[in-house]
Amino acid sequence: MPDVARARAVLAAAEGRVALTEDAAKDVLACFGLHVPKRRVLPFGAAVGSALSGLQPPFVLKVVSASILHKSDVGGVHVGLANPVAAQHAIDAMSARLAGHAIEGWLFEEMAPKGVEMVIGGGVDARFGPHVMLGLGGVSVELLEDVRFGICPLRPGDVRQMLDRLRAVRLLRGWRGAPPADERAAVEAVLQVGGRDGLMMALADHVAELDVNPLIVNVRGAIAVDARIVLRART
Ligand code: ADP
Ligand code: MG
Repeated sequence: MPDVARARAVLAAAEGRVALTEDAAKDVLACFGLHVPKRRVLPFGAAVGSALSGLQPPFVLKVVSASILHKSDVGGVHVGLANPVAAQHAIDAMSARLAGHAIEGWLFEEMAPKGVEMVIGGGVDARFGPHVMLGLGGVSVELLEDVRFGICPLRPGDVRQMLDRLRAVRLLRGWRGAPPADERAAVEAVLQVGGRDGLMMALADHVAELDVNPLIVNVRGAIAVDARIVLRART
């Protein structure tokens, strides 16, 4: 069962912010059973030292900044770091590149194996309540607007139907000789967001928007490698 109490505590700790940090957003996803990368946050100005000793390389470095929405657009994501020395160099280079931004710290995480990139969005409509958006394969989502919407609570059949109706679903089912990805894990992740016991149903009073982009789906499962949760403004 989801740990709603813990998720609410994470949201409460972020009170006053517009959005959760990526690290906190991933904590909330994990409370609902979604897989997220193992990670560490390093405060701005701290040295890498032995901080990554519990993580399995290669590492991904991401900037933590409330003012940066699309980290890779500004050079705020560095994948494939082999060791702590490379990680320290990457921080130094990123600090120089992002001079002028208000940087809170650095998020290091383990790299997920390659797979198909899926997008799960969540929102709360004044009339329909919590709803979920699904898309597949980065370019297809943004360029072709190949997405499907569903009203929560979604049932497993709803999610399978939404997937079936995506033109890009063939990417998930073994495109050009690639092995089929774990579609059941993808359905499960969507239900953990939009199902009866999912995040959007449990937290609609506090969450205005959710964006998991991407959820990487491969032969072994599905893992949310980027997450953003925008808090509902308190009145
Ligand atoms: P942005 O803010 O630019 O959306 P992301 O956190 O989504 O930043 O990272 C950009 C891209 O880097 C992702 O779309 C994904 O392809 C890759 N990536 C990010 N984190 C990981 C990770 N932990 N494992 C593997 N790939 C990752
Ligand atoms: Mg992203």
